[in-house]
Amino acid sequence: MTDGNSCVFCKIAKKEIQSDILYEDAELAAFRDVNPKAPVHVLVVPKKHLSDHYALEEKDARWVGNAHLLVNRLAKDLEIEDGFRVVINCGEKAGQTVPHFHIHLMGGRDFHWPPG
Ligand code: 5GP
Ligand code: ZN
Repeated sequence: MTDGNSCVFCKIAKKEIQSDILYEDAELAAFRDVNPKAPVHVLVVPKKHLSDHYALEEKDARWVGNAHLLVNRLAKDLEIEDGFRVVINCGEKAGQTVPHFHIHLMGGRDFHWPPG
């Protein structure tokens, strides 16, 4: 289990690791994925450490909602609002590799369903 001190996304939020940050406020940060799986691939994260979607609590509801509104604003700014994929992998079985809650925003290509 990763805590905030050794967590790569905590370090990105604290600017201890360089990334291409597109947006930040007191609670959220959005930055480009270092290994993009689509022409546009952005990650939206809370600045506080939270392991995954299943760790969400009632008190997180406001920033989670704001994170989804931010996804829409980024989709517009990045000109993919006509079609984009929003993904949250929860747990290793679902493909989560970084244990800090994050929303993937992907666009700029066609996507297929069901995902792998
Ligand atoms: P997951 O597989 O956990 O849902 O997604 C983790 C994502 O984080 C992957 O798409 C991976 O490319 C991205 N990632 C991992 N390490 C870094 C990093 O140091 N910087 C950035 N910008 N993205 C990262
Ligand atoms: Zn973290």
